[in-house]
Amino acid sequence: MIIVLKPHTTQENISRVENLIKRRGLDTHIVVGSEMTIIGCIGDTTTIDPKIFEVDSSVDKVMHVQEPYKLANRAFHPENTVVDVSGVKIGDGNMAFIAGPCSVESYEQVLSIARSVKASGANLLRGGAFKPRTSPYSFQGMGLEGLDILCKVKEEVGIPIVTELMSSEYLDIFNEKVDLIQIGARNMQNFDLLKQLGQIDRPILLKRGLNATYEEWIMSAEYIMANGNENVILCERGIRTFESYTRNTLDLQSIPVLNKLTHLPVIIDPSHAGGKWWLVPPMAKAAVAAGADGLMIEVHNDPECALCDGAQSLKPDKFDHLMKEMTQISSALGRKITYA
Ligand code: PEP
Ligand code: MN
Repeated sequence: MIIVLKPHTTQENISRVENLIKRRGLDTHIVVGSEMTIIGCIGDTTTIDPKIFEVDSSVDKVMHVQEPYKLANRAFHPENTVVDVSGVKIGDGNMAFIAGPCSVESYEQVLSIARSVKASGANLLRGGAFKPRTSPYSFQGMGLEGLDILCKVKEEVGIPIVTELMSSEYLDIFNEKVDLIQIGARNMQNFDLLKQLGQIDRPILLKRGLNATYEEWIMSAEYIMANGNENVILCERGIRTFESYTRNTLDLQSIPVLNKLTHLPVIIDPSHAGGKWWLVPPMAKAAVAAGADGLMIEVHNDPECALCDGAQSLKPDKFDHLMKEMTQISSALGRKITYA
């Protein structure tokens, strides 16, 4: 942290600010120029709110030179993190191909989709049992019954499952039964829930909030990590912009940016980003080419009749074709796919 004092600050005022800094447990390095004085703060500034120094009338501005996150920070952990999801490795060149319906609708539906996406090469099955819907009148998901269906299909087909947890009420049951716990865009800043996810070991798939900056998103990962669970995977799913033609705008820049800022795996959800099935293949391929550690894609065997997000779901044959292309791009880039 660097503190810039107002021009012509007296020695008495400089000493006062220096004392304020030292009272917070930091050392100082003072540079006195002909007009300006700059104080460098030395020590751990992660728990200090820089605004507190702006209260002093001699302080002009305070600048952070270190990011506010530590555990997720690439600077303190240069190697890529590999998260193990029940035997499926994700990160550092290991790809996650997560596919399945938006919502669990019936045993037969999930079974049929699971068999086909697995045959196409997916290594994880998705399906929402608890659904965060904008309208209270829309299908809200099958809840625990949906979770049971996912578990039965997992046994039958032999593929680990990813599903969204919306409330800490079900944390224990998810911890026991779900291989990768998804935290949706709308709960990215549900800090109480994030803290509780830190108490378990299960890998967490943390989606980006609808309006979240990179730093806010990484800080949410930091919440989980700081509470003890370092198995976090980040998932970009499109952000709100002025464009209304697409559901959201897919931020592919998030891949290189997050790879620079953090060591955590980064995957892309092109389905919720575009909101249209025909946008999914080009964006999915671009994401793999840009260095994503995987994808989450909605696949439905009867999208016209889907209870949720049919318009953005690929039919199994289209997903199969896309997997062939993504496998080629992945292997051209030296990436691997592991299976449970
Ligand atoms: C989902 O993946 O089913 C979902 C609701 O996504 P998001 O939280 O990104 O909207
Ligand atoms: Mn969906």
